Amino acid sequence: MKYVIAVDLGATNLRVGIYSFDGELRNLHIIRTPSKGGKNTIAEVIYDIGIKLLRDLGLSGDEVVGIGIGTIGPLDIRRGEVVNTPNLELRSFRLREPLIDLFNKNHVYVVNDCVAGVWGEKTFGHGVNYSNVVYVTISTGVGGGVVINDNLMLGKDGNAHEVGHLVINYDDELRCGCGGVGHWEAYASGSGIPRFVKHYMKNLTTKHRNSIVSLDDEVTTPEEFFNRVRTGSKLFNDICYEICKINAAGLASIVNAYDPELITIGGSVALANYGLIIEPAIKLLKQYSLNRLPEIKPTKLGSETVLKGAASLVIKPPKTLLEIYGTS
Ligand SMILES: [Zn+2]
Repeated sequence: MKYVIAVDLGATNLRVGIYSFDGELRNLHIIRTPSKGGKNTIAEVIYDIGIKLLRDLGLSGDEVVGIGIGTIGPLDIRRGEVVNTPNLELRSFRLREPLIDLFNKNHVYVVNDCVAGVWGEKTFGHGVNYSNVVYVTISTGVGGGVVINDNLMLGKDGNAHEVGHLVINYDDELRCGCGGVGHWEAYASGSGIPRFVKHYMKNLTTKHRNSIVSLDDEVTTPEEFFNRVRTGSKLFNDICYEICKINAAGLASIVNAYDPELITIGGSVALANYGLIIEPAIKLLKQYSLNRLPEIKPTKLGSETVLKGAASLVIKPPKTLLEIYGTS
């Protein structure tokens, strides 16, 4: 049996797993993502965990074909490096070169986490029988990965589809973590929702010329927000409906730009609140969309989408990625 080491490198957690080539997760280890160190620190940590996981399974490095990585971006995909990420104190670091050296393997593939996610959906999830698939995640941020005509889209640096930064409101003051104005992620992501709530209430107060909301109406986490929605608060249900319209605008922009057959939705915020922020958004989609609507459903791979996607990069390497790396 052949094996692959898969890595899901997020701003909070670093997951390293061993998959067999039939897509079965055999071993897994999760740690907090190292936020400090040198340019090679994260690669060295991945190597140490990978070796330990293999040893636990009684496997040798010879049985490993390669290493697949889905990481926070932005990327310099040719060099296999993360460049100036706003989400980690260690802003720039190397992955591909040090991992090629440490594991002594040529097949080391580094892509954006949602890009890995869509390839996982296409290889092992709902997308197996489709040629045009988009994966959208709504968690701390909003991200996406796109397969068109069976090709994994990458772009010149590997950042082809930063859909979280699609402009869904051109005339507003609410700033995204990236500094831009009117971005989807600023309103509808786990980090954006509490700030959007505050922003919405401020506008409401200004409009009515006196304070109609109290300090009790502040929320600091998306969980608090959705609890208030579920308890039936009219104010919070109004804001939730605004988020549905925003999600509909974002999803419609994807439909209009990529013409997918299938969109799968993942990420902790979307999966935990699918009936509140995705199902109503799907109902609103038509009014924003030009193209024929695709099927939209939750990812088949749950919280494993990125990790399994990283494994699938090695198990069934995308042609566009092989072209960039010049390996086969
Ligand atoms: Zn942005």
